[in-house]
Amino acid sequence: MSEAVTRESMAYDVVIVGGGPAGLAAAIRLKQLDTEISVCLLEKGSEIGAHILSGAVLDPKALTELIPNWKDKGAPVETAVTQDRFWFFTQSAAIALPHILFPPLMSNRGNFIVSLSNLCKWLGQQAEALGVEIYPGFPAHDLIIEDGVVKGVITGDLGVAKDGHHKDGYTPGMELRAKYTLFAEGARGSLSKQLGEKFGLHDGREPQKFGIGLKELWELPAAQHQKGLVLHGMGWPLNNDTGGGLFMYHWGDNFCSIGFVVHLNYKNPWLDPFGEFQRAKTHPAIAKILASGKRIGYGARAITEGGTQSVPKLSFPGGALIGCAAGFVNLPRIKGSHNAMKTGMLAADAAAGAIKAGRAGDTLEDYDRAYAQSWVAKDLYLVRNAKPLWSRLGSLLALPFIGLDMWTNQLFGFSLFGTLGHGEPDFATLSPAAGSIKIAYPKPDGILTFDRASSVFLSGTNHEEDQPVHLRLRDPAIPISVNLPEYGEPAQRYCPAGVYEVIEESTGPRFQINAQNCVHCKTCDIKDPAQNITWVTPEGGGGPNYTNM
Ligand SMILES: Cc1cc2nc3c(=O)[nH]c(=O)nc-3n(C[C@H](O)[C@H](O)[C@H](O)COP(=O)(O)OP(=O)(O)OC[C@H]3O[C@@H](n4cnc5c(N)ncnc54)[C@H](O)[C@@H]3O)c2cc1C
Ligand code: SF4
Repeated sequence: MSEAVTRESMAYDVVIVGGGPAGLAAAIRLKQLDTEISVCLLEKGSEIGAHILSGAVLDPKALTELIPNWKDKGAPVETAVTQDRFWFFTQSAAIALPHILFPPLMSNRGNFIVSLSNLCKWLGQQAEALGVEIYPGFPAHDLIIEDGVVKGVITGDLGVAKDGHHKDGYTPGMELRAKYTLFAEGARGSLSKQLGEKFGLHDGREPQKFGIGLKELWELPAAQHQKGLVLHGMGWPLNNDTGGGLFMYHWGDNFCSIGFVVHLNYKNPWLDPFGEFQRAKTHPAIAKILASGKRIGYGARAITEGGTQSVPKLSFPGGALIGCAAGFVNLPRIKGSHNAMKTGMLAADAAAGAIKAGRAGDTLEDYDRAYAQSWVAKDLYLVRNAKPLWSRLGSLLALPFIGLDMWTNQLFGFSLFGTLGHGEPDFATLSPAAGSIKIAYPKPDGILTFDRASSVFLSGTNHEEDQPVHLRLRDPAIPISVNLPEYGEPAQRYCPAGVYEVIEESTGPRFQINAQNCVHCKTCDIKDPAQNITWVTPEGGGGPNYTNM
C-alpha cells in the first residue's frame, strides 16, 4: 500500500535529467553563458559515468566547441585513431573492404578512442567547477506537469519495499522545479517516452529505430595490442536479414573495447543478441587478437538508429529532449556522442536566452530551429537512407547501395532514393516462433566466450533487492499466455542480463523477473512484441557500475 507523502521542493532555473554527454554539455554551456543561471543535474547511476556504455570513437568536434582547451585541461581523450579497417566476415574469412566504398564522412581521421564513461566523469568535474549542482544516485522518476507545462521532476523515493510499504529510513523523493527541464536520458528514456506521448512529439515522424549494443572490455598482451586500431565488421554470425555488426577499438596501454550491435528490427524470435556477440568473438580473425587476453568489463545499452527521419519535435512547454533521448546517432558512423553534446549545447543556448528575456515554461522553439540549421542535422541528413536500405535489402545487397547513396549525398547533395521511411517499429517485426529457425548457440568456454551470469557480475550491477520491481508488466499474464506460444517469449533471449526467465513448474510455465540483474539497456521496453513491459527507474544508485566503458 502506498502512503501519502510530503515532499521537499527546490527550484532552479534549469534542471537536467541525465549525466551523459548531452546533459553534461548542456550544463556546462549554461554556466559558460551565465554563471548566475542555477543548474541542477540528476543522474541515476551511483556516480557520473557509472551507467555510460559506448564504443567509443569520439569525433571531438562538439567537445572542442564546448571546451576548446580540453587537451590542456586533461580530458581523458588520448588515443588518436591510427588505423581504420572495415571487414566483411564469412564464417572462416575476414574480407577487408576498400575505403573507396565509403565517402570521407565515414573516415575516422582526427578522431579518438575513448572510454565515454571516463569522459563523462571528467565533464562532470568541469560542470561542478562551474557551479552546476550534480546529484548522482538520484533518478528522475516522475514528471511534474501543471496546466500542460512541464514544471520539473520528482526524484525516486528511497526505502520502499517490494510490496509498496515504507521501510525504516524511507525518504520521499524531492520535487525539483525549474523554468526549463532538459531531458538527457539517452536512448529510450523513461520520462522522455512519456513526454513523447503526452506532447505528441513523434507525430508525423517515422518511428524511432534501435539496436542493442553489447560490449566487453579486454586487456590484451602487448604483442596483440595495436594502439589506435579501429575495426568494424559485418556479416557472420548474423544472417543476411539481420542488421548489425562488430566493433573493436584498441586504446590506452592495453585496453581493447570489443562490442556487437544487433538491430532490434530482427525477425527471428529465437535470435539471442548476447549469443551472437559471443559467437562473433570465435571468428578466427578476432579470436587471434583476443587470445591470452583477459575480459575485465561487460555491459549493454540500446542505441538509437532512426536518424533524421525519426527525430521528434524537440521542445515542448517547459522543456526539451537533448541527445539520444531524441536520437541523434549517425548509424553508419556508429557515432552519437558528438551530436548528443552539440544538441545539449543548442538547447542550453535557447534556455539561457529565454531566461535572460524573463521567460519561463514556454516552448523553446529556438532550439528546434537551431537544430535544423546545425551541423548535427546535416550529419544525419547525409546518411538518412543507410538504415532503411539495410532493413529493406539485407546486409550484403545494402552495402554497395549505402556506399553509393552516401557518396552521392556527400558529393552532389542528393540521393537517388529521396528519403526512405523505416516502416514498422521494432516491437512489430518478429515472425512467429513456429515458422522460425531455432539457433543453436555453442556453450561458453569461459576463456573467449562467457555466460550471462559471469558477464553481469563484471558489469558491477547491483540493486537493493527489497524494492518494487522496476520492470512493470501492464498485464502479467501476457508473457506466458501470448508471448510464449507466439514467439517463445523472446525476452529470455533479447535481455543481455538474464533478467527474464520462463521456469517450467508442475503447474505449467511461470514468468520470472530477476530485476536485480538489470543493466538498464532498455531493450525490453523497446522489443517486447506486446509492448507490455515498461522500464521505470529503480531506487537511486541501482544498476551497473561501469569502469573504463
Ligand atoms: C554499444 C554502443 C557503441 C557506441 N559507440 C559509439 C561510438 O563509438 N562513438 C560515438 O560517438 N557514439 C557511440 N555510441 C552512441 C553514444 O554512446 C550515444 O550517442 C551517447 O552516449 C548519447 O549520449 P546521451 O547523453 O544522450 O545519453 P547517454 O549516454 O545514454 O546518457 C544518459 C544518462 O542519463 C542517465 N539517466 C537516464 N534516465 C535517467 C533518469 N530518469 N534520471 C536520472 N538519470 C537518468 C543515464 O544513467 C545516463 O548516465 C554507441 C552506443 C552504444 C550503445
Ligand atoms: S531487463 Fe530490460 S533493461 Fe534490464 S537488462 Fe534486461 S532488457 Fe535491458
